[in-house]
Amino acid sequence: MIEMDCACVQRHHQIPTEVIEVSDHAIEKVGDILKDYRRIFMVADENTYRVAGQRVEEILQEKGLLSHTLVLPAPALPNAESIGKVLIEAGRDRAVYDINAWSLNPDYILAVGSGSLNDTCRMVSYRLGIPYGVVGTAPSMDGYASVVAPLLNGRKKIVYNCSIARHIIIDLSVNREAPYPLLLSGVGDMIGKYVALLDWEISRDRNGEYYCGQIADMVRKATDQCVSAAAGLEDRDTAAIRAASEGLILSGECIAFCGSSRPASGTEHMIGQTWEVMDVEEGKVPNLHGIEVGEGTFTAIELFRKLYRETEDAPVKALIEKYLPAFDRLEQLQRQLRIPFTVTDKQRYVEGILRGRTFRDRYTILQYLYDQGKLEAYADAVYDTVMEKYCFGTFRERFPDWES
Ligand SMILES: [Zn+2]
Ligand SMILES: [Zn+2]
Repeated sequence: MIEMDCACVQRHHQIPTEVIEVSDHAIEKVGDILKDYRRIFMVADENTYRVAGQRVEEILQEKGLLSHTLVLPAPALPNAESIGKVLIEAGRDRAVYDINAWSLNPDYILAVGSGSLNDTCRMVSYRLGIPYGVVGTAPSMDGYASVVAPLLNGRKKIVYNCSIARHIIIDLSVNREAPYPLLLSGVGDMIGKYVALLDWEISRDRNGEYYCGQIADMVRKATDQCVSAAAGLEDRDTAAIRAASEGLILSGECIAFCGSSRPASGTEHMIGQTWEVMDVEEGKVPNLHGIEVGEGTFTAIELFRKLYRETEDAPVKALIEKYLPAFDRLEQLQRQLRIPFTVTDKQRYVEGILRGRTFRDRYTILQYLYDQGKLEAYADAVYDTVMEKYCFGTFRERFPDWES
């Protein structure tokens, strides 16, 4: 269990995570870390099995901890089909059918992968009531220690409560080799935190919403760490990969401490996730989460800057002002990283902003602008600025062979 005392009204925060191991060759320690379990069910997809799963399976087998393994076709999506498959294959009752046994469930689920596999296994763990952990293969999102999982159910993307990982094992020598789109996705997911924190502060002041300064500070530091590391990712610099991985894990931890994703998800996620959902509604495979959130972040920054220039609301103006230096840094970072865009069509772009306001029940600048009758005009106005300043090409142009 990870815990901390706090000055906020909650006084104390805790999560059931027992071990976070981020190191070179962390995989080799998996047998020791999971030594208290006897029937581990390992889930990977073809890609993650190749880069890490096979070795993990070997170690667990040698130590007598493995029940069995499921390798899903790649790329696995966090959808009802994957969850169903994992659920069906969780028990080994075809091999050892015991009519008297109450359950032949495994005693632990180990996900080998990043976003999709982690979310899929988390849901199955929660439903079966058994603990789970993850061997992360790419620093692509901040969900390793999160409390919720956004899952694809039919043509909808629904956020479900889920288990929190007991063990998070990040092998830097594996993560260093992760495909570059996944590294960029991790950066995209992280840079949005400044926006999320600003939204949270505005809601604290306007609505009296619960706010924890210590958690907000931790998220800010984790974000600073990722932003500083981001430039070294393309060269696969180990220090950069470590900083990004640790920052993403810490952000997830803060979500768990808080009991909601409030500290790590605001306007940028609501817009980015609406674009994801629009794809899902049309039966398309959604783009990488962090890539959508990256574009959502630049959109939110320009909404805030425009409001800052025009508003006479002094308290809100003062809050935005605190974040302007961070926004400037992100603008600079984007000129270097060129996180690709997925939405460049104006109508679709604006629809994401307008629908994003009600993506979930959370007060953000989108609601603030809406209440003043300005949201449509703002959404329309920032499109040109965002495309001109931040768009250096689309995801498809940059990574034509990417599969999901
Ligand atoms: Zn607190
Ligand atoms: Zn996210």
